[in-house]
Amino acid sequence: MTQPDLTGIKFFIQTFGCQMNENDSEHIAGILSAAGARPVTAPDESNLVVINTCAVREKSVEKLYSLLGRLSKFKKDKEYLIGVAGCVAQLYRSDILEKKPCVDFVIGPDNYWKLPEMLKSHFQEKFIATQWYRDWHEIPEIQRTTAVSGYITVMEGCNNFCSYCVVPFTRGREKFRPAQNILSEAENLASMGYLEVQLLGQNVNSYRDPETGTGFSALLEAVDQVQDLVWIRFITSHPKNIDPQLIHTMQQAKSICHQLHLPIQAGSEAVLKRMNRGYSRKEYMAVISHLKDAMPDIALSTDIIVGFPGETEADFQQTLDVLEQVRYTNIFSFRYSARPLTAASRMEGSIPLEIKKERLQRVQDLQKKLQSEMNQAKVGKIYDVLCHGKSKKDPQVYSGRNYAHQVVNFSSGQECEGKFIRVHITGSGPYSLKGRAPD
Ligand code: SF4
Repeated sequence: MTQPDLTGIKFFIQTFGCQMNENDSEHIAGILSAAGARPVTAPDESNLVVINTCAVREKSVEKLYSLLGRLSKFKKDKEYLIGVAGCVAQLYRSDILEKKPCVDFVIGPDNYWKLPEMLKSHFQEKFIATQWYRDWHEIPEIQRTTAVSGYITVMEGCNNFCSYCVVPFTRGREKFRPAQNILSEAENLASMGYLEVQLLGQNVNSYRDPETGTGFSALLEAVDQVQDLVWIRFITSHPKNIDPQLIHTMQQAKSICHQLHLPIQAGSEAVLKRMNRGYSRKEYMAVISHLKDAMPDIALSTDIIVGFPGETEADFQQTLDVLEQVRYTNIFSFRYSARPLTAASRMEGSIPLEIKKERLQRVQDLQKKLQSEMNQAKVGKIYDVLCHGKSKKDPQVYSGRNYAHQVVNFSSGQECEGKFIRVHITGSGPYSLKGRAPD
């Protein structure tokens, strides 16, 4: 089939969401560029704006509508197309076109490969593409936004139906990318000089190679054999799928960082049960103990939701207690917000907004104190840091990440971008480390 010609299209992509959304945007950019379209760096230079948005939290949806409000005013003076992509597109479909007349098309995560054809054949009319496909559809086109660390999607969708989460309704059931394709992408990135890869999936450690049936540990072991990749990370892992084999693989591998994002969401058994998380607090804490026994240097991070329906003060204290016990390097904490179609949105016991705000503040205050203490203890140590470039806040210093995925800002007399640098830590704050590279 000949590729539709999109020469003349100048596109701008706005991404709201996690690494999976960012990687999807890299694929959308690759697909459009392969068809002749050209990326630009601001919406007013473009004639096609694609807004790729996550639907997990209400806030991303609010950001989308606010951006559409701004773009619709601008659209009156300029001829261009506006498309909504991602989970929000999948979830709200025709509602978006009805509510926001400035939107020209809506395209869900399983349909990006169709974009050039649809843009060509529907340029004068609105369209919706939100079909789901059961099997993996390989998208080779990609235009990466960094040359240091490369995302590799290994699976999509989720079968877990946590009671608060909209992902199974927007990304569909789990489907897995063939391991051979994942390995080829990892090898290709290594040959281009990437030093780090991050394997992505909503539930990455439920991975099964669709061709051989082998699991996530086998995939990690294979990626670990790729020459010249120095660091391998993966996100997001489900606690119920962390098995002894995976811990052993992490411990033995040459390149897998001793760093793991392991969402607990809440510390109370009762709340975890209502969340339908599939593990008890006791089981989660046992996994943490196994990880720490196998890798004493492991850096852990987590997600926390406060104010889930029916959460009492005693339940909430259990969450604070987990933070104290685990001592995470970093957390992502949110106020519960009801999402369409989810079981939790029909639960009784809604928590007043003021209490949710107050609990979120207490979680963040405690975590800030813990991170300040832990980071202070790192002053004087030396870390290998993968430098991502100059710091956005202070162009006099470089910024990178250590194995624990902590931000390290450091001074250096040499050009450091895209290299591993040994950094001597000289200062700390709750959210980052400061240091100096040898001259
Ligand atoms: S595991 Fe739960 S929270 Fe994570 S994507 Fe699946 S349903 Fe959502």
